[in-house]
Amino acid sequence: INWFPGHMHKARKEIKKIMPQMDLIIEVLDARIPFSSENPLVPALRGHTPLLRVLNKRDLADPDVTARWQPWLEQERGVRTIPLTHKKRNEVLDILDLVREMTPDHDRQKSALRVMILGIPNVGKSTLINTLAGRPIAKTGNEPAVTKAQQTIKLPDNILLYDTPGFLWPKLSPEACGYRLAITGAIRSAVLDFEDIALFEADYLLEAYPEQVQARYGLDELPADGLALMDAIALKRRFLGRRGRPDLHKVAEVLLNEFRSGTLGRISLETPEMIEQEMRDHEEQT
Ligand code: GDP
Repeated sequence: INWFPGHMHKARKEIKKIMPQMDLIIEVLDARIPFSSENPLVPALRGHTPLLRVLNKRDLADPDVTARWQPWLEQERGVRTIPLTHKKRNEVLDILDLVREMTPDHDRQKSALRVMILGIPNVGKSTLINTLAGRPIAKTGNEPAVTKAQQTIKLPDNILLYDTPGFLWPKLSPEACGYRLAITGAIRSAVLDFEDIALFEADYLLEAYPEQVQARYGLDELPADGLALMDAIALKRRFLGRRGRPDLHKVAEVLLNEFRSGTLGRISLETPEMIEQEMRDHEEQT
């Protein structure tokens, strides 16, 4: 499926042009989907430029899983990670210390440190920039962003931040990555059906977080699969449509909203082990 055909070529060209001039790259990832929210261009194009991967929204992610992601992501040369939440200002400001540590040879008296920041829509990039800058600069909101103009922002300690709104290039293969991006709300695509997205979530929740789901929806028994879970929620909440049939659209809304708001608890949608397995399967298929 071709999701953002126009964006892609423009993005690659821009990223290729700007990246070599940067002293450091900050990529904001969603801690619940560190792999799926990664921009696949970054590892390929950054060369020797150090890369700081921010695992944002850690307050919504499973802390044990986030702790497993950190060493996995740091295997690549020149990569450091930091989990954080916008609710803790000091955690966000810790980024500045890490940036200093990662660029020991740069003399900021002589020249500004050029830092590129990127991240998929709705990952929390604007919120982060505003906290770092100590003033509202970037627009925030809960809607996936449309392309804004590129801007540079002056931060303390002679850091020049290059915001890159054009680089919206989510990872859509393996196929499961697209579903996880949709579950978090990063992509609102007509390509994936709303109820299918919720079904993917339901299947995963049953496998990875059965107790949490059972408790949240007050289920006496654990349903056999995602569809059975959706039916059970419909019955429990009386989401019934014509002739008493389960209203799966309403259930889908509840499942997605309660995941996104954290009402379901702290849940990660992927682990390093899952991704490794999916990559192997994907390679065998292609
Ligand atoms: P952008 O599109 O990447 O610039 O994302 P925004 O900064 O506009 O944030 C998107 C949404 O995510 C907003 O509703 C933010 O309040 C929310 N958000 C940002 N950071 C966090 C975080 O660490 N935890 C939680 N729970 N929500 C966050």
